[in-house]
Amino acid sequence: MSLYETLFNKAKAFHGHVCPGIVLGTRLTIAGMRELGMDPLEPQRNLIVYIEIDRCGSDAVQAITGCSLGHRSLKHKDFGKFAAVFVDLETKKAVRVAVYEKKRAEHDKLDSKDVIRILGSCPEEEILKIEHVTIDIPENDIPGYPLGKAVCSICGELVMDNRHIIVDGKPVCKNCGTTSYYTVLEP
Ligand SMILES: [Zn+2]
Ligand SMILES: [Zn+2]
Repeated sequence: MSLYETLFNKAKAFHGHVCPGIVLGTRLTIAGMRELGMDPLEPQRNLIVYIEIDRCGSDAVQAITGCSLGHRSLKHKDFGKFAAVFVDLETKKAVRVAVYEKKRAEHDKLDSKDVIRILGSCPEEEILKIEHVTIDIPENDIPGYPLGKAVCSICGELVMDNRHIIVDGKPVCKNCGTTSYYTVLEP
């Protein structure tokens, strides 16, 4: 089995179905890890991935790299683009790989099975754009021991990683201190 097939199967098992997104996510991850000199078959302690979309392909990136929210090694940048920045925390080297399908209009006319086959086997330069980049990772975003935590003075909930704000000299969580993204219903 080729490296692509091995990794594609891993992505497929994690995601639960086969789709063009998983194919592209597998190829994008292979390119990103290769550019950093990392073996995609080995767990990588120094890898952080910033993924710019929350769709199918993101699962391929997670399944293959092992990077996850829980390890603080997978970060979501909500840009709606099928692209990811792979960062080696040790060397500080970073590479951004974006899906850039040169024959997209042609592929759109084919059925999904053919698209999956073509995207899985065509030369990388026909589907990916690779750029070497630099990126500043805030120290509170780095995996490891939390640098700061606080208890919200309004709701009493614990806020990790210095994500609290200070209002009138007291720590407050963002739900209490800024606009909350949810509304609590009356009981
Ligand atoms: Zn899918
Ligand atoms: Zn609060």
